[in-house]
Amino acid sequence: MNHELIPKELKSIAEKVEAQQRISEADALTLYHTNDLNALGMIANVVRERKNGNYATYIHNRYINYSNICILSCQFCAFAARKRDAHAFEYAIDEIVRVVRDALPLGVTEVHMVGGLHPSLKKDWYLDLLRQLRALDQKLHIKAFTAIEVRHLAQRVFKMPLRDTLEILRDAGLGSITGGGAEIFDPVVRDKICRGKETAAEWLDVHRTWHSMGGRSTCTMLYGHIETVAHRADHMRLLRELQDETGGFTGFVPFAFEPTQSHGILTDIKRASAFEQLRNLAVSRIYLDNIEHLTAYWVSLGLPLAQVSLSYGVDDLHGTILEEKIFHMAGATTPQQQSIAALEYAIREAGREAVQRDSHYRHIPSAATPASAPAELACA
Ligand code: SF4
Repeated sequence: MNHELIPKELKSIAEKVEAQQRISEADALTLYHTNDLNALGMIANVVRERKNGNYATYIHNRYINYSNICILSCQFCAFAARKRDAHAFEYAIDEIVRVVRDALPLGVTEVHMVGGLHPSLKKDWYLDLLRQLRALDQKLHIKAFTAIEVRHLAQRVFKMPLRDTLEILRDAGLGSITGGGAEIFDPVVRDKICRGKETAAEWLDVHRTWHSMGGRSTCTMLYGHIETVAHRADHMRLLRELQDETGGFTGFVPFAFEPTQSHGILTDIKRASAFEQLRNLAVSRIYLDNIEHLTAYWVSLGLPLAQVSLSYGVDDLHGTILEEKIFHMAGATTPQQQSIAALEYAIREAGREAVQRDSHYRHIPSAATPASAPAELACA
């Protein structure tokens, strides 16, 4: 790091990072308040390259939203519907299995599956779904259900303790749980943007339980709405503390609130700027010293900005995704999928070494073929 390019107010933090010392929440706030984005990127890059060298990864995955029918109405969510709503949908197991079967010849290694808190699907439906997906290909990793879906299944569907529920899901084929639903942990903000959702302690407890079973998961943060940067620092503090305890988080995936369809308390909120998204990624890379990977969710950033973020702490561009719905129902204008060629091109053009990964961020041979489509960055 060239210390001459680090402004005075960031020097002590830069020195801590170089000495591999942990930064405090106060330090995180100092970082959030700087406008020297390039200095922030340089500091974040120290952590990024210490942990991941020059590699930048992506996963070849297939998204499935089995249903958007949900008993909750989180204020930021344009995805959820009541059964009677025109935009409500619910796929049959056969349809989901067919879609995943069709994706297997493309080389996908993971199916990523979340949905609403469905009021009437039964325990056997969820278990049959997992078993049938598992039967398609023993090597396919099934990453499914947010912490709140897991709690919904435990309390209302399976009517069993959390751990027993997770064990049954795992026996049926669940490979890992997703990091969604964390939003912002602060209880006041949480009550305003997603009343009725599980508390921070409950979200953390689902992941703690899963990690205690040997499971791995990712973690997320939804920012750029009514929260302050102090709320973000506090959110990351809780994640860092749980990671100290369990070591079960593989990666952190922050994403900005998509405001296009917003209403109520979220009306008139402007989309987080490119500057703010890069700043947030860099701060999280520096603060979360015990989480190995930082993912840029290109669905939210757009691939061009996700590519730039590879110089601001990010070491992973998420995946091919193949049909994202949740952000697009909220108004996102990014593509709904990326090709391997486009992801690898974005990584190489940023001067990083592109590597395909599995669901736990482990490097695997690339499924790219010489005949892959010409690589162009899809515009956000
Ligand atoms: S965010 Fe999840 S829990 Fe909340 S309304 Fe949407 S689907 Fe339901």
